Amino acid sequence: MDTSSSPPPVGPRVDPTLLTVTRAGGRTVSLTFDDGPTARYTPQLLAVLARDRVVATFCEIGQQAQAQPALVRRVTAAGHRLCDHTITHDPTIGSHTSSVMDQQLRASRDVLVAASGGAPVDYFRAPDGNWTPALLRRSAQAGMQPLGWTIDTRDWTRSGTAAIVNSVEAHIRPGAVVLFHDGGGPRDQTVAAVTQLIPWLRSQGYTFVFPS
Ligand SMILES: [Zn+2]
Repeated sequence: MDTSSSPPPVGPRVDPTLLTVTRAGGRTVSLTFDDGPTARYTPQLLAVLARDRVVATFCEIGQQAQAQPALVRRVTAAGHRLCDHTITHDPTIGSHTSSVMDQQLRASRDVLVAASGGAPVDYFRAPDGNWTPALLRRSAQAGMQPLGWTIDTRDWTRSGTAAIVNSVEAHIRPGAVVLFHDGGGPRDQTVAAVTQLIPWLRSQGYTFVFPS
């Protein structure tokens, strides 16, 4: 990919420390969805989020974004934020050379910027959360905040809607960043769990924010 064709959105200098709780703190929560976009589940989640007026962050795989750019645009048009989740979701990316890491990070970021019509890509999340110190640095140098999580719902194991809901209810704390998936397999349970969790989180006094 010709990386000279798309000027990267330049933000403030990024801290290479992994962000695992919201910067806002207090009774805030960030919902994050990985491994999309997918034609079946991303629109379902967008509908739930829109109905309940909740913002979320979507950590998208470059290859999938490239195949379905309209879905990326729907995500940003709805006011949500993008997170780069690499082009190919290679969990060993953090062990590669700096140039390979940069290629994966920046090519994917460029795909998301182009697909969204110029939206900034504020965050980067390592596939499988497999961070290395080098990968944290490359992410920050590319202008993307390394994004971790507080609660892993393990929804990708298809443990059931109740188990996904319970993982959040049992572990919620102020500033929690919650990991869900809108790709990588059937996600009906995730959609159902998020539908239940939004009103529950509100009843506990939580407001929905971006990680930073
Ligand atoms: Zn992933």
